[in-house]
Parts: sequence; C-alpha cells; structure tokens
Amino acid sequence: MPEQSIEGIGMTSRRTRLRLVQRLRDKDIADERVLDAIADTPRHIFLDEALSHRAYEDTALPIGHNQTISQPYIVARMTELLVQHQPRRVLELGTGSGYQAAILSQVVDELYTVERISPLLNKARQRFERIGYRNIYSRHADGGIGWPEQAPFDAIMVTAAPKEIPLELLRQLKDGGKMIVPLGDVQQNLTIVTRRGEQFLKDVIEPVMFVPFLPGVVR
Ligand code: SAH
Repeated sequence: MPEQSIEGIGMTSRRTRLRLVQRLRDKDIADERVLDAIADTPRHIFLDEALSHRAYEDTALPIGHNQTISQPYIVARMTELLVQHQPRRVLELGTGSGYQAAILSQVVDELYTVERISPLLNKARQRFERIGYRNIYSRHADGGIGWPEQAPFDAIMVTAAPKEIPLELLRQLKDGGKMIVPLGDVQQNLTIVTRRGEQFLKDVIEPVMFVPFLPGVVR
C-alpha cells in the first residue's frame, strides 16, 4: 500500500481505521488479509467531503445518484467469503464509490469492475489513481453483460441486488469458481453460487439490504 501518498492526501489517522477494524473483529470478521486491507484503505477518500467525517462508522452512506457506499461490515464479510477460495482474477459488478473494489484489489491479483452510472465511475477512477492502485480495471457498462473479453473469472462479486442472476454472468465464472450476490427483491439474501461444470450450487449466507441491480447505462 502506498502509505505515503495516503498521508499526502490528508489521511487523518490510522488509529481511526484500526478502531473500525476492531469493531469488525467484534462482529466476527476474522480474515487478517481483509482486516489489513481495511486498515490500509482511506475510506474517507471514497465519500464526498460533506460525509467524509463519518467514513469510519460501520454504516452505508449516500454517494449520490440514489446509490450508497456499502457498510464496511458487509464489504468485509463478502470479501472474506471470496478470499478463502484464493481467487486471482475477480470481477465486481457495481463499482459505486470504488471502496469495495479497492479492498478487493488488495487481496487478489487483478480486479475488474463494472459500473452503469458514468459520473460515479469517473469519480471512482480518480480515487483509484489518487491512491495509487495499479491492478484495478474498470468499465462503464451494464453489469448484466459482465466483461466477456476478460472472462472467465475465478470469482464474481455483485454489489447490487438482482432478482435473478443474469445468465451471462454465470457463463463468465470459471468451473469451480464462486459468485457472491445479494439475491432478491425486497427480501434479499446474500448468496454464494459455486459452479460445478454446468451445475450452479447455491448457499444462502444471511439476509442483506442492497440497492437494486438495474439494466442499462446512465451517461
Ligand atoms: N461496491 C460499491 C457499492 C455501490 S452501490 C461500493 O463499494 O461503493 C451499488 C452500485 O451498483 C451502484 O453504483 C449502482 O449504480 C451499481 N449498479 C446497479 N446495477 C448495475 C448494473 N446492472 N451494472 C453495473 N452497475 C450496477
């Protein structure tokens, strides 16, 4: 992690982040790689100025365009569930603020991320550049089509809730690969899908609340 550039952009204190890490430990997040990534990532950079003082609370916060940066607990939980399978190339659908992508990029080799709302993606890209992540590749598109040119992926993380998993995304998962997705409409369940050949096995983890996975793009 380029700690110096973080200090340079006004990283208040690592201590504030370490308090967040302790809260996540209290909520049973145990993977040290994930906790290290959270300790190293300036979440305040992923928020607008007016909300940045709340960056290290364990809550979701608005990022404009009716979207939210996910709660750190959920980011940690979803990341933990994926990294135990040691995926190297991972696709995220729903870049949003870019925070989840930043965390993932520190525990995998290559992180691909797709966002449908152009202004959100542009801001996220500026943050990636400012902090200095080198292994995040992003694209403005409807995540329902995935990223076929870069498929197949070891793992796919969906950070908005579809009613059903788009078939195209299942096709872009490697055999043996894992997808983590908040599945459902009003009532959503965090679900892990494992690909076994043409079989897709589903495991429900816990109920969650995400913004909906929507079709099309916004310019
Ligand atoms: N991972 C984000 C969470 C942002 S909220 C973060 O850490 O901040 C979910 C995001 O998914 C929103 O930005 C929304 O625009 C995006 N989204 C919803 N449907 C999508 C789709 N079909 N393709 C790509 N992005 C989508």
